[in-house]
Amino acid sequence: MILLDQPHSATDQGPNRDQLASLIAQLEASLRTISGLARAALASSLSAEDMVLTDVIARLGLPIEIFTLQTGRLHPDTVAMIERTQARYGLKVHQFEPEANALAQFVATYSLNGFYESLEARKACCGVRKLEPLGRALSGYDAWITGQRREQALTRDQLDEREHDAAHNLVKHNPLASWQWGDVLAYAEHFQVPLNPLHARGYLSIGCDPCTRAIRPGEHARDGRWWWENADTKECGLHQNNPNKETIA
Ligand code: SF4
Repeated sequence: MILLDQPHSATDQGPNRDQLASLIAQLEASLRTISGLARAALASSLSAEDMVLTDVIARLGLPIEIFTLQTGRLHPDTVAMIERTQARYGLKVHQFEPEANALAQFVATYSLNGFYESLEARKACCGVRKLEPLGRALSGYDAWITGQRREQALTRDQLDEREHDAAHNLVKHNPLASWQWGDVLAYAEHFQVPLNPLHARGYLSIGCDPCTRAIRPGEHARDGRWWWENADTKECGLHQNNPNKETIA
């Protein structure tokens, strides 16, 4: 069990204990199958949610690998978070990059920033920079873990904490599904978790630099992603089960 620290400030309420217990139980469950041990990996975008998960994994010494998709278009603050995370926790954040030939073909076909011009081009870019590397990143694992939350977007409001990822034939855990943004910040404040500076500038969802902006009052976290598209298309394909997911017990 994680021991709570003394409050750091008058505003430090600490994490919700029931939420924290549930989160730990879910992370531990990701390391088990019906027949034995499982290999699990956290897909981190270096967002606050993923930093909370990283912090729990590090505190408990859970044998969960951490990887990020280094798309080549990440904001410099996000790139810097990779080194900050490794230095703070003494663990490796594995980076998966796009395949060079496929990337060159995308640029030749659509241009570097062609994703602004059509949904087809945007999905092609996400396919090359994210989806194909994700497939490599997940190879050999039984389960993966994400920091997705229901509150983030319309496409996530029915998110389950545990799903079957049919695209990769893996168990997928979303242990923060029921958490609110305030819950994430409460945990981060209490445990002094390093946060991406973009959050303080209004970026509630962390993605590629040219496709992410700060949100405005009343917007969902992911309204700052691909803001020129309709809300129901705003997934890059990493989470293909949203919202028409196949749930497992
Ligand atoms: S988020 Fe934007 S830059 Fe990143 S892979 Fe998708 S379309 Fe390309």
